[in-house]
Amino acid sequence: MRRTGYVYDERYLRHDPGTWHPERPDRLKAIQKNLQESGITDLLTAIQPYENPLEWVERVHDPDYVRRFKEACAKGRNIFEVPDCGICPESYDIALLAVGGVLAAADAVMEGKVDNAFCAVRPPGHHAERNRALGFCFFNNIAVGAVYLLEKFGLERVAIVDWDVHHGNGTQHLFEADPRVFYLSLHEDPQYCYPGTGHRRETGKGPGQGFTLNLPFPPRSGDEEYLEALKKEALPRLMEFAPQFLLISAGFDAHQNDPLAHMNLSRDAYRQMGRILLDLAGETAGGRLITVLEGGYNLEVLEECTEDHVRLLLDIPLDHF
Ligand SMILES: [Zn+2]
Repeated sequence: MRRTGYVYDERYLRHDPGTWHPERPDRLKAIQKNLQESGITDLLTAIQPYENPLEWVERVHDPDYVRRFKEACAKGRNIFEVPDCGICPESYDIALLAVGGVLAAADAVMEGKVDNAFCAVRPPGHHAERNRALGFCFFNNIAVGAVYLLEKFGLERVAIVDWDVHHGNGTQHLFEADPRVFYLSLHEDPQYCYPGTGHRRETGKGPGQGFTLNLPFPPRSGDEEYLEALKKEALPRLMEFAPQFLLISAGFDAHQNDPLAHMNLSRDAYRQMGRILLDLAGETAGGRLITVLEGGYNLEVLEECTEDHVRLLLDIPLDHF
């Protein structure tokens, strides 16, 4: 069995984007309740998120943007700059705490306290741009995590694999000119799906040319298409890059039962993708891997797929318990 860190905090439930909103606190409640009831939380190492990682957030986000977000929350606004980014007075603090969860996990892995970690955080992050909130996201949790690993620990190569069904526009844009970060995204074809970026032709810029790989899939693609692209096209590129740390932006919204997108992945596809990436991290990164929750809007799917993934991280059989 491996030592797996688990970031969760009840305060993550306090970010309330509005009663109509699919990115609701129940998502995290469902994940936590299921892991507890299945006895898995007892096997995990609890990691407390850092309270205020503002210094690191401002290395990724424009300080003026951070100030605008803080102000909008303090003034009691219901949305922040775009209609799908619903907020409440506590959203700013909770968004900081989500970043703080990833940073605490990064320290725990780098200091050898755990082998890998799962961050059950919200709000999600991968759509957040340097100076823009988008797609339910305010601070780009995984991007701040990558910068933290590069700058605090002097790592030279970090890979971010994003299997959320939506393209991680924010993450791509933040690192597209940076050859230290390889960004791979598997997502629904931008012609049919939010946010409309992530074409194959987007491959990085300047010194980062060749370090972005977008694999868009037409609607109703399934396990076979995803796994073939991951194994045959992405894996050789990732192996060549040889990341010293692997970060996964894990959305579970490409599942066939997710209400927001149009893909056909099964529960098993997520297991297999997780297995492939764990093996990769074992090969090139000494097993160092952190998975950060992004989307996924069917509660049953979230419960099942996160449980499977955490079992993989722990290296316990799927039928254990
Ligand atoms: Zn998504």
